[in-house]
Amino acid sequence: MSSLRFNAVEEAFKKKAVEVIAPSKLTSDYYGKYVFNKATMAKFLPKATIKALKNATEKGETLTISIADDVAAGMKMWAIELGATHYTHWFQPLTDGTAEKHDSFIDYAGAPGEAIIEDFSGKLLAQQEPDASSFPNGGIRSTFEARGYTAWDTSSPAFVVDDTLVIPTIFISYTGESLDLKAPLLKALNYVDKAATAVCQMFDPNVKKVVAYLGWEQEYFLVDEGLFATRPDLALTGRTLMGHESAKNQQLEDHYFGSVPSRVASFMKDLEFEAYKYGIPAKTRHNEVAPNQFELAPIFGECNLSVDQNLLIMAIMKRVARRHGFRVLLHEKPFAGVNGSGKHNNWSLGTDTGVILYAPGKTPEENLQFVTFIATTLKAVHKHNALLKASIMTAQNAHRLGANEAPPAIISAFMGTQISAVLDKIEKSTTDEAIIINEKKKLELGIPSIPEVFLDNTDRNRTSPFAFTGNRFEFRAVGSSANCSSAMTALNTAVAAQLVEFKAEVDAKIAKGIAKEKAIFEVIKQYVIDAKAIRFDGNGYSEEWKVEAAKRGLDCETSVPKIIEAYTSKSSVELFTTTGVMSEVELHSRNEVKWETYVKKIQIEARVLGDLSINHIIPVATRYQSLLLDNVYKTKAVFGAEKAEKISAMNLALIEEISEHTSVIKSTVEAMVEARKVANVIEHEKDKAIAYNESVLPFFDIIRKHIDQLELIVDDEMWTLPKYRELLFIR
Ligand code: ADP
Ligand code: MG
Repeated sequence: MSSLRFNAVEEAFKKKAVEVIAPSKLTSDYYGKYVFNKATMAKFLPKATIKALKNATEKGETLTISIADDVAAGMKMWAIELGATHYTHWFQPLTDGTAEKHDSFIDYAGAPGEAIIEDFSGKLLAQQEPDASSFPNGGIRSTFEARGYTAWDTSSPAFVVDDTLVIPTIFISYTGESLDLKAPLLKALNYVDKAATAVCQMFDPNVKKVVAYLGWEQEYFLVDEGLFATRPDLALTGRTLMGHESAKNQQLEDHYFGSVPSRVASFMKDLEFEAYKYGIPAKTRHNEVAPNQFELAPIFGECNLSVDQNLLIMAIMKRVARRHGFRVLLHEKPFAGVNGSGKHNNWSLGTDTGVILYAPGKTPEENLQFVTFIATTLKAVHKHNALLKASIMTAQNAHRLGANEAPPAIISAFMGTQISAVLDKIEKSTTDEAIIINEKKKLELGIPSIPEVFLDNTDRNRTSPFAFTGNRFEFRAVGSSANCSSAMTALNTAVAAQLVEFKAEVDAKIAKGIAKEKAIFEVIKQYVIDAKAIRFDGNGYSEEWKVEAAKRGLDCETSVPKIIEAYTSKSSVELFTTTGVMSEVELHSRNEVKWETYVKKIQIEARVLGDLSINHIIPVATRYQSLLLDNVYKTKAVFGAEKAEKISAMNLALIEEISEHTSVIKSTVEAMVEARKVANVIEHEKDKAIAYNESVLPFFDIIRKHIDQLELIVDDEMWTLPKYRELLFIR
């Protein structure tokens, strides 16, 4: 009997919800306790220092070392009060997650050997040189200069985790190339601010700043820790590489929004308390579609901070889950046959005057601005649809996209019937018809009902990767384990560049003597026409859409290594270089890293799959087969050959069936190993990734199919790996 599995199941069943006590009655009492936020700064920093820091962050003024010293001193005092003994520069390398190296505050007060003191200077706060040679850089640091620096991001507050003061930083090379995901994001956000502000000023000269907002929705699975430990595939790759579908799955759709199981409810509460301590405004929690799948979403916030908070919450989730005897699965597709996990990125732009630019206005003038941003965004998404897809594509996310559950692997925009009607009207209007300048010299679009209509925003389309949802766009193709930076950098840059173009086109018309409103309207109209192909409100999962999308000239590539290449297409290079967000060298190096990462992921999965096949599955199947053979022998001895033939017919058939499956598994694993060997010697990363995609990956399905068949045949008591019903329904 497979004792490990059954013990794990038994233990899991026995587990009770862990009691969780709120840190305080009111969330606001402890909200942001571990964050060096504005309120904390007011207590620990001189007023002039706060002002200088603000100017540096918001206006890009230089931050002198003496100001940095002041900030460091206040930060140190605050962090030590919270129990910090160490500090770290926290950065976001090109692979998954975050990286950090911890240093203690201690130093000699003077010469070596003298008294030890806690020391933290502005220099240490502002810049570090981690030994980062092991971080992927796609060749940048070998071609230029080996050193990499982390530099303090003053726009994202430091925080304390356990005994460590954590400082969000960017990671750059000696020659200034970005080696991380944060630096390009900050450049993109800065650029979209400038571009959108200029456009807003055409409508309202009081606008001085535009902020990009992000509200992510984090989906995840929880699996009992004991069961997790007995699934090497989950532990090593984050997903199950085998496992027959459970008899009950998500068919009844009874999990979605159902009542939260008690152990999970405790986990969620605990997680929220932690989130609040870190100033993460967790707002909604609920079950998701698949069994044991859940979601956490905070209130949206400024994009850069929101990205950091998401990275932090992913780390916190992992820790909190352990306290409750769970493991959290952030992989995009941990289980075949049930929904995978995404991270919808709700995105919008808003002004410092309090206007959300994607929210329809109340006056025709406000609506002209609204339509300007809608049309510009559509045009940008249309132009860069391949890039946007590349920005979210990974080995993991490929399992989810286009798999009839998540957005398809074609980027399109859903606008809903109301906005579609508005855009159609703009498209068809001859300028004179649509623009009625009334006596107040305001523009009449003839669409006064927009605000009311939007109060009743019932128009939903779950199959769209980029959907307008009333006051924002929801980029749904982002994967659950992803760093949102990639998607946000691509989207904000694309929209920003289009806003710049928009302004230039309008200005050119005005220079020719066309009235401002008319000029704006004409450009909008052209954009609506140009971007029509990106608009799709139908079923994104249908086969017809794939055919239609190809006809429309949208990017329909499905191979991950080839999708990634969109970053270095002519239009992407032009986009990133003209906006200054990324250089061509950076773009190429990033692709190298992505291909390398892709290869490594598939390689690890292939190894684990091979190992499990040979060391778990085949031995178990063979043992069961021996048992059957034994029975056949004994039957013959007792009943004689003639009678035994009939009695043993079923067992004999099973014995043969098992042989067939095990021999296919064995030979396919061998073929997969051979394919890997061939792929491994390919020199160029892209070609290697293509080889892994085309000649290694296809073996997975074949091997899995036979293993899953064996799971149905072999005695349940002998099966060593926890089954889907156990992984998905025990909590
Ligand atoms: P749903 O699951 O229906 O999409 P949720 O409430 O789970 O909705 O998530 C919506 C997310 O969108 C939240 O994080 C919310 O704060 C965010 N959001 C709302 N308005 C905006 C906006 N204008 N810009 C960016 N994010 C927004
Ligand atoms: Mg959503």
